[in-house]
Amino acid sequence: MTGEPCPACASPAVRLLFSATDRLYQTTAKVFQIVECRNCRLIRLYPQPSPTELGQYYPPDYWFTPEAGAADKLEQWYRRVVLRDHLHFVERALRESEEQGPVLDVGCGGGLFLQMLAERDGRRVVGLDFSLDAAHVAWRRSGVPAVCATLSRAPFASSTCAAITMFHVLEHLYDPGSYLDAAHQLLKPDGRLIVQVPNAACWQFLILGERWNGIDVPRHLIDFRQSDVDSLLDHCGFEVLRYKHFSLRDNPAGMATSLAPGLDPMARRLRHVSETPRQRLCKDLMYVALAGLSLPFTFLEAACRAGSTIMVEARKKS
Ligand SMILES: [Zn+2]
Repeated sequence: MTGEPCPACASPAVRLLFSATDRLYQTTAKVFQIVECRNCRLIRLYPQPSPTELGQYYPPDYWFTPEAGAADKLEQWYRRVVLRDHLHFVERALRESEEQGPVLDVGCGGGLFLQMLAERDGRRVVGLDFSLDAAHVAWRRSGVPAVCATLSRAPFASSTCAAITMFHVLEHLYDPGSYLDAAHQLLKPDGRLIVQVPNAACWQFLILGERWNGIDVPRHLIDFRQSDVDSLLDHCGFEVLRYKHFSLRDNPAGMATSLAPGLDPMARRLRHVSETPRQRLCKDLMYVALAGLSLPFTFLEAACRAGSTIMVEARKKS
């Protein structure tokens, strides 16, 4: 097969891995292909949907907006507990860099991560999201100042950020290098870039194939392995300092979603599944239980450096 050039090496030659559709949110019945570049082995969605088409695959409320009910309070508590891995990773990076300045979270969604970071050490934070609704929710619900923009055209001065975080952003972009180039400009000399993506070299992908939720067809345009992330960072002028292959928020829950997408709380909300409050609470608890049962496997694959997500700390090459 040949067609669009690979975003990493520009080779048009690809090998078909499998076909898949939007299993999680069911925004479309259209079938997509997942292909691997014959030259550099980068895995990607093929062919790439146009920006207008891609927009249709992001349901409104793609981020979490807590309401006042008991189930939402429980979910908000759960989200705070499982975000601690991310907080600890970023806090260590900030301590070791010692640069002062704001932390910019790209793809901030409802702003919970930045809210927690600001609560813990009073640091200045700012969010960025390409959704106006997300930026609005970040400010209104989480008290996090946020702008609606792409990072390449963000209204920030060069060399001002102590850290830039991108959790599950790069895999959604047509040109992830443009975001890393922009981050390179915005970071202070010893500032830190923290990137997290699903890891296409994980055991879950090997075992579950197109049922692995990390490929999230058709919203993920690129499915990175660690080596792909390394090459991209290197190409954009960054050196890697540290990896983490386990995330309490993403790895066990991701496996639960892969095994039972119909229980995923976000999927149920976005699919408008009708549930009584009691049914909702029951399904939430079943989902948390399934994530709990997934813990040993996800720990093991992460310990073998094949976890279903990779978090990377990097800094500018000197
Ligand atoms: Zn390639």
